[in-house]
Amino acid sequence: MPVKTRFIQAKSALNRSGIVKDGWCLNPYGGCAHACRYCYAVFMKRFYNEAAAWGEFVIVKENILGLLDHQISRRRRSSPRSLTSAFSLQPSAPPRRVWLSSVTDCYQPIESKLRLTRGCLERLLPAGFEVSVLTKSPLVLRDLDLLSRGDADVGLTITTDRADIARVFEERVAPPEKRIETLKRLADAGVKTHAFVGPALPMDPARLAAMLKGAAGRVLIDRMNYQDKVAGIYRSLRLERCLTDAYFREVFDAFVAESGEKNVQCCW
Ligand code: SF4
Repeated sequence: MPVKTRFIQAKSALNRSGIVKDGWCLNPYGGCAHACRYCYAVFMKRFYNEAAAWGEFVIVKENILGLLDHQISRRRRSSPRSLTSAFSLQPSAPPRRVWLSSVTDCYQPIESKLRLTRGCLERLLPAGFEVSVLTKSPLVLRDLDLLSRGDADVGLTITTDRADIARVFEERVAPPEKRIETLKRLADAGVKTHAFVGPALPMDPARLAAMLKGAAGRVLIDRMNYQDKVAGIYRSLRLERCLTDAYFREVFDAFVAESGEKNVQCCW
């Protein structure tokens, strides 16, 4: 079934969020065509008044670049004190960090045509913002020219080393090896990189940790937080053990053994 696309006018580009404590979040798209089976962002559906199932629609914020231009130019015109009102913030110095994007994947397939994420990078990086990107898509390499010249940190979500497991849970996304290769190319170009191993799916953690060495500057590990979404799949694969606390601890320990404690962060 083709993914439904709907265009909307957003109210602002840079927004504060509980997830991004020291910066802004920027989401060019709502909904996500990647349709991962464990997706944690499904709750966003209620904000879009959308009947299609999660994974079957994408909301495009078609005015996002104009909004971003406006917010950046207000920032340029403002003195440090008036920046507070320009961005509706309390501190006198506005945060310079932008997370792109905080809810859905900013490099999902429609981005190859619409280039909104690229447009955001074209504005943020030359203006001196520190940009964090998190994606599952090798499409991020299209923007290597911008990312390698600015203050950017790019994360690839890599949840397992097993292509068969990735096919079950992340059918529409590039396989793990392709994502690791993407991370390596970013690192080789001098971009700061990290791997987000979250949710940690069934895997050989020592193998994945070894594969990520040299590709990811840091590794963040998270457990499966929404187990009710996937419990049936785990049962059918006889992999229930991979939902236990002991398993997630095992994954974390394997990464620490390979990469050292200071390079591995536990997210739970
Ligand atoms: S890429 Fe992220 S936001 Fe998109 S479906 Fe997968 S988990 Fe959800």
